[in-house]
Amino acid sequence: MSTREVRPTDQAPEGATHPNAKPVLSFTARRRGKAPRHLVDLDLAERKEAVAAVGIPAFRADQLSRHYFEHMLGDTAQMTDLPASLRPKLGEELFPKLLTEITAQHADKGQTIKTLWELFDGARVESVLMRYPHRTTLCLSSQAGCGMACPFCATGQMGLTRNLSTGEMVEQVRVARLACARGDIGDGPTHLTNVVFMGMGEPLANWRHLVGTLHRLVRDVPEGFGMSARNITVSTVGLVPAIDKLSGLGIPVTLAVSLHAPDDDLRDDLIPINSRWKVGELLDAARRYFMATGRRVSIEYALIRDMNDQPWRAQLLADELNKRGRTWAHVNPIPLNPTPGSIWTASTQSAQDEFVDTLRRAGISTTIRDTRGSDIDGACGQLATAVEKVSSSRKKRPVPVHIERRSENE
Ligand code: SAH
Repeated sequence: MSTREVRPTDQAPEGATHPNAKPVLSFTARRRGKAPRHLVDLDLAERKEAVAAVGIPAFRADQLSRHYFEHMLGDTAQMTDLPASLRPKLGEELFPKLLTEITAQHADKGQTIKTLWELFDGARVESVLMRYPHRTTLCLSSQAGCGMACPFCATGQMGLTRNLSTGEMVEQVRVARLACARGDIGDGPTHLTNVVFMGMGEPLANWRHLVGTLHRLVRDVPEGFGMSARNITVSTVGLVPAIDKLSGLGIPVTLAVSLHAPDDDLRDDLIPINSRWKVGELLDAARRYFMATGRRVSIEYALIRDMNDQPWRAQLLADELNKRGRTWAHVNPIPLNPTPGSIWTASTQSAQDEFVDTLRRAGISTTIRDTRGSDIDGACGQLATAVEKVSSSRKKRPVPVHIERRSENE
């Protein structure tokens, strides 16, 4: 077994102009245009106002909301119990087309569908729908691009284009629910049971629209889809103040923390936001989340060969978790989806086994995460399909990362 330790800085970040370049964090969108207003950007009271504002009785807001959240209709032309004379006006005002399908790729014998969407301004994002025997999960995008600059993540290399609106996120969910109901994925109709914020973007950096989206997901019809909060996972690089805000939101979603290293020495270079909030502060916030919500926190750990996969790091991770309490966290190692020809390579099977064994021996519940869609570049950090229309056709940009949360046996 190799004993050399590979460092994230052994190779300059993609697109770097000099060998000592460092990844740059960004919280500011390059593009500031706002997506057109959609019915689901609004809460029920605001929907009533918006309907009344165009001279239509407010009770229609309820009817429109039921069509949307119950029947997954996004076009007033299909809402046949709505007076025909009202349909075009309401369509124009409240149902702009937010997502245009560019491509849809199927994998895993039709159990996985990856869709590339174009947004109103030409920005592109993807979502991945994955059917399993006992659940169906949508992995959605919360931003176009990402400003967190993690050097192993394809989206991280793109920089941040902009935040998605609530409507743009909720629409990803609506069309996924429709695809399930129609039987477009796997064998026969099914229900969308789970949503993970693990596509492009850092959801906690898009706080306001994340909260709007969570409300639409968990509130009952006609306010929202009525999904269970426990089946929704919000994944973060570790924006500590936002984790605390999420603790107080009263929507007990599952929190996933992309830790990837238990020591600041390595994590400073692996997850650039660690320069602001250290491993200890992040795990303290994760623990507070567990205390506030009762939801066990998922610790994400991409195993990178000779970089973060040593047994001593598994032991240190276990110690850091155990010293904050028992059974409050669950570790999900995932083999890194590699960037060919780079230092970003997956751990060997034996290193992975030893890492998992070390955690389990220390009493930490651990499940290797199953990846889906690798044959369509649908897994983490593998996608390189999107060319942004409005930027230029010169640059081929890598697109993200969509993964399933747990393996089926959990
Ligand atoms: N910004 C959020 C959510 C999006 S990424 C976050 O970082 O948590 C979802 C998950 O995919 C994160 O855990 C991220 O670290 C992981 N990931 C990114 N690139 C990967 C790769 N090449 N291989 C494996 N996991 C990767």
